[in-house]
Amino acid sequence: MPNPYTWLEQSLETIHRADWYRCVKTIQSSPGATVILDGQEVINFASNDYLGLAGDKRLIEAAIKAIREFGTGSTGSRLLSGHRELHGELEQAIASLKQTEDAVIFSSGYLANLGAITALVGKRDLILSDQYNHSSLKNGAILSGATIIEYPHCDVETIKQQLQQVRQDYRRCLIITDGVFSMDGDLCPLPALLSIGEEFSCMLLVDEAHSTAVLGSNGAGCVEHFDCTSKTLIQMGTLSKALGSLGGYVAGSKPLIDFLRNRAPSWIYTTALSPGDTAAALAAINIVQQEPQRRDRLWENVVYLQQLVKQELPSLQLLPSQSPIICFQLANAGEAVRVGKQLISAGIFAPAIRPPTVPTSRIRISMMATHQKAHIEKLVKALVDMALLNPGQN
Ligand code: PMP
Repeated sequence: MPNPYTWLEQSLETIHRADWYRCVKTIQSSPGATVILDGQEVINFASNDYLGLAGDKRLIEAAIKAIREFGTGSTGSRLLSGHRELHGELEQAIASLKQTEDAVIFSSGYLANLGAITALVGKRDLILSDQYNHSSLKNGAILSGATIIEYPHCDVETIKQQLQQVRQDYRRCLIITDGVFSMDGDLCPLPALLSIGEEFSCMLLVDEAHSTAVLGSNGAGCVEHFDCTSKTLIQMGTLSKALGSLGGYVAGSKPLIDFLRNRAPSWIYTTALSPGDTAAALAAINIVQQEPQRRDRLWENVVYLQQLVKQELPSLQLLPSQSPIICFQLANAGEAVRVGKQLISAGIFAPAIRPPTVPTSRIRISMMATHQKAHIEKLVKALVDMALLNPGQN
């Protein structure tokens, strides 16, 4: 009989040939604007730690205190032995940050999307999903068993046409979208999506993974940025990016959260978030609410990078972005990997993002509040020195 595992090596060879092969890189220091990457100090433009909180002493102390008091693991699911007062406090803090009635925390953002989507819709329902949505939204949609229609990126007119044609064939309808698109940096057309939702009786789930504590005057995210906090919708997010910890959440109305606590399988049947992660996220939310200047610094850095690029690299085509995620496209995966490596040699960590994560290869730059101006200048200088990105200087 043939060996049933030989296809693995063949598949890996194909992945290598397409320049799609990925492997981990080791960070050997605490998180920050600069890190030690495989033994070399680099400026870190690869982190989701937008506010620089993942290495903040207050989060570290809060996690240590919680671990001393409650141990390292929460020992069971929330409905069995896993619930601690800390979990409730964190959920209330998220609801306060997001200006919603209630919130529920999951063990990761990925699980929050899987749990919410599979609980809210099923076989008799319809999901409309942006083609650039994050993997957790896409897989949540598949897992739910609902009919999925993928619409062209942010294309409101197409969504309307699709709903006009098929909405009446389904019981419930759920529109799912990233708030900030994670590999592009642009924003979803939230007000238009909300009005389509009203017109066609559709629920709307917005993924605030990259906008929580980053966008909005109080850091409530994309929904606050668009002045839509009073609208009824489903907001999910993660505790692992600007909040410097681990875990995910869904925030919204009391009935929504109550329903998810009864029906979301990735909340009911998994171990509760660890005490350390919970306490760190709680400390982060306090900081986000008390230190808005961190968000101001982040946005100053975003604007500074965009200005410098315009000035020094006018031919560099940045993808449209309204967030701290700033990308520029390259011809193919091989080229993106080559540029990523060249940047590392210049002391800059800004990774290549390739298919199948995205349709076209790119370098993704992720800004932090804790970057110094000199860090941003060094990034732009490294790009200028790479003549290929600036044909004018060839
Ligand atoms: N949604 C988006 C848009 C994301 O970028 C991510 C993480 N990359 C997630 C969800 C999943 O969050 P987590 O890392 O907490 O599982």
